[in-house]
Amino acid sequence: MLNQLTISELMAKLAKREVSAREATQACLDQIARVDGKIHAFISYNAADALAQADAADKLISSGAKNSLLGVPIAIKDVLAVKNQPLNCASKILGNFTSTYDATAIEKLKAAGAIIFGRLNMDEFAMGSSTENSAFGLTRNPWDVTRIPGGSSGGSAAAVAADECIASLGTDTGGSIRQPAALCGCVGLKPTYGRISRYGLVAFASSLDQIGPFTKDVRDSAILLGVMSGVDPRDSTSVPEPVPNYANALDGKIRGMKLGLPKEYMIGGLDAEVKAAVDAAVKQYEKLGAEIVEISLPHTDYAVATYYIIATAEASANLARFDGIRYGARVEGNDPIELYSKTRGAGFGAEVKRRIILGTYVLSSGYHDAYYLHAQKVRTLIRNDFLKAFEKVDAIVTPTTPTAAFKAGEKSGDPLQMYLSDIFTISCNLAGIPGISLPCGFTKNPKLPIGLQLLGQPFGEESLLKLAHAYEQATPWHREKAGL
Ligand code: GLN
Repeated sequence: MLNQLTISELMAKLAKREVSAREATQACLDQIARVDGKIHAFISYNAADALAQADAADKLISSGAKNSLLGVPIAIKDVLAVKNQPLNCASKILGNFTSTYDATAIEKLKAAGAIIFGRLNMDEFAMGSSTENSAFGLTRNPWDVTRIPGGSSGGSAAAVAADECIASLGTDTGGSIRQPAALCGCVGLKPTYGRISRYGLVAFASSLDQIGPFTKDVRDSAILLGVMSGVDPRDSTSVPEPVPNYANALDGKIRGMKLGLPKEYMIGGLDAEVKAAVDAAVKQYEKLGAEIVEISLPHTDYAVATYYIIATAEASANLARFDGIRYGARVEGNDPIELYSKTRGAGFGAEVKRRIILGTYVLSSGYHDAYYLHAQKVRTLIRNDFLKAFEKVDAIVTPTTPTAAFKAGEKSGDPLQMYLSDIFTISCNLAGIPGISLPCGFTKNPKLPIGLQLLGQPFGEESLLKLAHAYEQATPWHREKAGL
């Protein structure tokens, strides 16, 4: 079925004219019609617009155009601006807002010929780990619909795992690409901070946010990273680092590469099946010729606390703009203060409010130095731990999550438990380094995907992708399908 193809498989078929972009897009739309009632990965999509884009791509293909993603249907997390499409961040507060411009990442995908369609569900403003914080209802895990798909990019992961699109985009502030990719059995990449422009991404925590791809294999991840990367004058935090041809790095030559195993990551709450799968993956790497080195990241214990100070502080500032005046929904009041309070009171969900309150608190005078300033210092220590480790190793290997997908409702009443599910992913954002999650096995009963995380040096995506690809090609996991 065409909707099950990877980007590189579909591109090969399109180039040989074995299939058309319209057929591929229609296959995705048919799959959505068949399964999205169970999964609810999409908040909305416009089938007519997607098919019109596909027809335009087919015309270009027949005129000989060779753009690198020409005719590939890609679905988008509801936090990225796509011109003339709705943008809600899975919140009520944006009302019926429509984007007036394209995010840079979207502009680049469009220039490469991709068909940009659909708004994928997420935790409101990307705050969460289960997609239960959406104002548009739950997304369910395609492997077991009683379970969550992870979050905050749960819709992006579920849509790829359910073959409702060829690939998708998500964003990762503390794990929101890697964690749902792990729980849904796809490949999720968080690039180095500054690798992809954040222009047109609605900010949650600006010093941590990155855009990245969800794909069915590592090669597709390399392809999308290459298209979206690069410096952008509209994002002053994007970095003028040259963009390599990432797919060229996928040569299987990992003999002699050094992989670090952090001793701090073998924590008590680590599920036995997850641990066994990661141990087996490490053995596989040894078989492939990599050298395993024990390393230490001594400040790991402070990562979750540090993250929840910095991320909430930045969120409280970033979300101040949603006031009922500038965008979206408004609840009228007798004066501006009443209007702001009523709009924000009605528009934001409970988790977003919790974060704004926490963030305002840690920035308030008298507490700023005790919390925010302190957290910034610990953040530097965490980054230094990684930089020190990378003097000895090419990449670090860990589980992506402590457990496989949990049941819907299981952690939603306990924010601390929810926050702890990000224990392995959060440090990477604090350090600004790249990370990838790829399938490394399944739990037995029920059968649920397990994710392996690889963390790399700043702008070390080539090594990460090379290592991920070598493992993927030696193992069967990425070929398994959720039986929907
Ligand atoms: N789960 C984390 C949080 O709730 C990370 C979210 C993200 O990466 N956007 O903040």
